[in-house]
Amino acid sequence: MKSKPRQSARSPAPRIRFVDLHRQHVELQQDIAAAVARVIAGDAFILGAEVAAFEEAFAAYCGAAHCVGVGSGLDALTLALRGLGIGQNDEVIIPANTFIATALSVLHTGATPVLVDYNPETYTLDPGCIRPAITSNTKAVIPVHLYGRPADMDRINAIAAEHDLLVIEDAAQAHGAVYKGRRCGSLARAAAFSFYPGKNLGALGDGGAVVTDDGELATWLRKARNYGSDVKHHHEIVGVNSRLDAVHAAVLRVKLEHLDRWNASRQAVAQRYHEMLPGTSLALPARAADGEHVYHLFVIQTPARDALAEQLAANGVETGIHYPIPIHRQPACGKLCRVPAPLQRTEQAAERLLSLPMHPHLTAVEAADVAEAVRTAADTMQHVV
Ligand SMILES: *Cc1c(COP(=O)(O)O)cnc(C)c1O
Repeated sequence: MKSKPRQSARSPAPRIRFVDLHRQHVELQQDIAAAVARVIAGDAFILGAEVAAFEEAFAAYCGAAHCVGVGSGLDALTLALRGLGIGQNDEVIIPANTFIATALSVLHTGATPVLVDYNPETYTLDPGCIRPAITSNTKAVIPVHLYGRPADMDRINAIAAEHDLLVIEDAAQAHGAVYKGRRCGSLARAAAFSFYPGKNLGALGDGGAVVTDDGELATWLRKARNYGSDVKHHHEIVGVNSRLDAVHAAVLRVKLEHLDRWNASRQAVAQRYHEMLPGTSLALPARAADGEHVYHLFVIQTPARDALAEQLAANGVETGIHYPIPIHRQPACGKLCRVPAPLQRTEQAAERLLSLPMHPHLTAVEAADVAEAVRTAADTMQHVV
């Protein structure tokens, strides 16, 4: 969730916000204040006991052996790739419809991102696109659990095993999402999470983590994030400075206790949207089994996207677009990626996707209000489109 909420110059201040962190922080005000005070009193701000305690709790939550906290989701991806030996002359297959960080992480290792289209049912990497994209340089695949829905991991892992490819989950939007009884973060060799404030589990600033069962990788990451060192003044690898701050770790530990309840609340909002929106001309996200989809975003598609967003804004409902410019059209990296086949779905989606307000503190009344506003706008627009 990084594109700016849409609001035209003429629109009133939103009645219903796209994301509302204020309510989350009011709810936990005392516990968060106590956690921050504990860090200050403990006088340990970088790594240390708070970070270790959160790492242990989050690894257990994901059902994995290790969690290594780092400075951001982007760093989690980049370091996981580096730690697994991805670098120059390698190719890594990623979905084209994702946040830019997925592609940048590959580029930061010196490897080439190979962009493929998404599966319209799940909005995640289409496993059918993997085989045709493989060359002798392909080393890894990064499925992104986009919008909070797990990618088709069984098929992706099976194809990867056949071709000896590493699989690294981009779980930045999928804290707590479940795939066939197992949590995202435990479905491949390693997984990268982001704790950007607006994610399902968010810190008070930037943060991220790699979750893995691979003890050797975890050991490498603990050095890599800390200038390549785990013994003071001894630097064994070319590391970076990318550590999860103690204050964020302490706050994340408070929030982790509430994650399942918050995800259930997101699912209830999605349920309300599903109940109130069919019968309109909009394409809704396909439903998933219980617990499977944690609705980081609730993304609909309509050819009249811009008109709908305008009408909603005029009605005080804030929306977003994820993502309006596909990776291969970005000036920073479009030319640095390989695109083995036309990205028709991604291209079309960039013009049609619209993300409705979605956060765990959206009330039932507000969700119904959003749905009603969408229905009304869609009905009037049917005469226009
Ligand atoms: C947010 C996000 C990231 C990057 O996380 P940061 O903490 O912002 O660096 C990576 N991938 C996806 C899919 C994301 O949504």
